[in-house]
Amino acid sequence: MERACIHIRGIVQGVGFRPFVHKLVREYGLCGTIRNSSSGVELELEGERNTLERMIRALPVRAPKLAVIEELEVSYSEELRGFSDFRILGSRTEALRDTLISPDICVCEDCLRELNDPRDRRFHYPFINCTNCGPRFTIIRDLPYDRAKTSMEVFPMCPECSREYHDIENRRYHAQPDCCPECGPMVFYLDRDGRRVEGDATELARTALKAGGIVAVKGLGGIHLACRVDDGEIARELRRRKQRDEKPFALMCRNTACAQALCELSEAERRVLESPQRPIVLLKKKRPGLLHISENGFVGVMLPYTPLHVLLFGDDIDALVMTSANLSDTPMMTDNDEVVRGLHGIADGFLLHNRKIQTRCDDSLCRVLDGREYFFRRSRGYVPFPIRLGRELRPVLACGAEQKASFCVSRGAYAFPSQHIGDLKNMETFESYTDQIAHFERLFDVKPRALVCDLHPDYLSTQYAEERAAAEGLPLIRVQHHHAHLAACMADNQVEERVIGLVWDGTGLGTDGTSWGAECLIGDFTGFERFASIRSLPLIGGDLATRETERVAFALLREAGLDTGRIENAALYEKMLRAGLNCPLSSGMGRLFDGVAALLGIKTRCSYEGQGAVLLEAAATEDAGVFPLAFESGPLRFDWRPMIRALVSSLDAGEDKSLLAARFMNTLVEMAAAQCREARKVSGLCTVALSGGSFQNLYIMEWLPAKLTAEGFRVLRHRRVSPNDEGLSLGQLMIGNAALKE
Ligand code: ZN
Ligand code: ZN
Ligand code: FE
Repeated sequence: MERACIHIRGIVQGVGFRPFVHKLVREYGLCGTIRNSSSGVELELEGERNTLERMIRALPVRAPKLAVIEELEVSYSEELRGFSDFRILGSRTEALRDTLISPDICVCEDCLRELNDPRDRRFHYPFINCTNCGPRFTIIRDLPYDRAKTSMEVFPMCPECSREYHDIENRRYHAQPDCCPECGPMVFYLDRDGRRVEGDATELARTALKAGGIVAVKGLGGIHLACRVDDGEIARELRRRKQRDEKPFALMCRNTACAQALCELSEAERRVLESPQRPIVLLKKKRPGLLHISENGFVGVMLPYTPLHVLLFGDDIDALVMTSANLSDTPMMTDNDEVVRGLHGIADGFLLHNRKIQTRCDDSLCRVLDGREYFFRRSRGYVPFPIRLGRELRPVLACGAEQKASFCVSRGAYAFPSQHIGDLKNMETFESYTDQIAHFERLFDVKPRALVCDLHPDYLSTQYAEERAAAEGLPLIRVQHHHAHLAACMADNQVEERVIGLVWDGTGLGTDGTSWGAECLIGDFTGFERFASIRSLPLIGGDLATRETERVAFALLREAGLDTGRIENAALYEKMLRAGLNCPLSSGMGRLFDGVAALLGIKTRCSYEGQGAVLLEAAATEDAGVFPLAFESGPLRFDWRPMIRALVSSLDAGEDKSLLAARFMNTLVEMAAAQCREARKVSGLCTVALSGGSFQNLYIMEWLPAKLTAEGFRVLRHRRVSPNDEGLSLGQLMIGNAALKE
């Protein structure tokens, strides 16, 4: 006989872990105790060494779905306590802030079965949940995680729910959001003027949707606008009312089969789509069409994730548009009164409920790359799960960028990146940003000892960091934008050594005061050098050029020494250029994509950032060709002028633009490989990290790593955070920590 002390860290509280252990211990015929500790769960067991070892091996394998075991520490001793049964000891009273909080997880199979069982007391109850599923992060106000500190506080449990809650044999043992129609939240339906309509709320919403109405639906981390997919006129009406021109809508499909009717679905994509995190997955359309939903070849699809969604689809609605309920660039609405006021004239009805959304959390958005999520937006289902790092960090707050804002705090060997926040230039979004920072600091008990921000003085995140550092007397570390991207990709892959970094981005302020774009850096957390870049071009009219991309096309032609007559406002642009009027230089990869998309006639005016690049990628077919490659000396700068000349002459010779789009991207792949070869020659390094928004392009993400790997490079790409600016705060955090150490 021996005694085993087992310390388990990770997401092991509020996810049915103790009942699971209880069952397992009984199965193996062991005795002992279990208790929640400040950093996870502590287990003491007595029995034969062999049995103990077998049971410990079974722990991670059979753990409940929501549990994440990050660490399992075991020590054995011969000093026995003489346990005669298995007991669950009360948690220590101190705040359990060292544990991890589970993200929100979609309704589980067991709950679905009860939801559809007319004999079950939760039949058709839209808030059914258990320890294996349901809301977590979006309802938690503070720790320790118990009902009184969530938005379920105002719904005291009825005797029946309370019995389940206290019964270790029950699936709802210690499920904080446990509730039923007797005691829990209720849904209701309002008409377009916000007046209550009597009747079955879900049925009323279904009827309105089927009749072609636009209905606001309250989800987990926010409110959506829903409407039919099959009728283009309804979706166009939604665009008109929301003033959303061309940006694609996401869809929610009743089940995988319904998604498959519209989109191609690989085995890996199906797995991610059906995963309990339920992200929006960008899938290839089966045939051209659904243009009223998405103008490019892809459409974002998710499956129902709350019981309310399941009831809304019933068995006769196959797919719905599900777009965030917000007005141009403001954050997604979460509050009932706010949504009824804000969506007046937009929604024909409101399917709401009386449980408060404590924390806003948008739907996550990803593509599937190498069988797993490749994030464009990491939010619901994933946040606040931390990024485990290779080593302990000091507590630091990294403030992120601006347009795709996020922040990140560190505690121990974990980094906690925030959910998607949005564009800070919007006032409500900025408020949400500061609120969430306070929330994270409280939730994870982090008191930052330093702040980290971007070099750009005008970013609102920088201004926030400056003000706070001054007010609290904290050191402020400013990090160059592309360096932060590089570091984010390193941390994402738990790499610490110096690497070559290709960071392709729209724009970021450089250390020389100019705007940088598509950079090849060599560096690590402690510093970097700018090794190579691309030739810059003038953005005629500044920011206007990101929308009116024919301005970029004009600049490309003119710089390449070609006739600009094909551009509509050529004379005006020429005048502006000569006068040097608001024509900042940019070496942004995004702009190069925009310009080429405009030249090819794919898109000459964009209604959202990155639209040109997305459409160009969607238009491309496979082509093995490459345009001529040239470099300017100094820092190895890609000279795209020969490429543009070749592209235009092929276009004028009548070559297919989808071939040219592919050839353009092939040229970028060759260019990148050439820069990396040079960087390897100089530095001796052969690991390349890929980061920046331009690497959301899957054509590049397929061919560039293949090319680099074939040439003997090891390629790092983002896995746990997004390659775009949203992922950048993780890099800031690492660089800030390295600076603190010095
Ligand atoms: Zn469940
Ligand atoms: Zn109840
Ligand atoms: Fe960036």
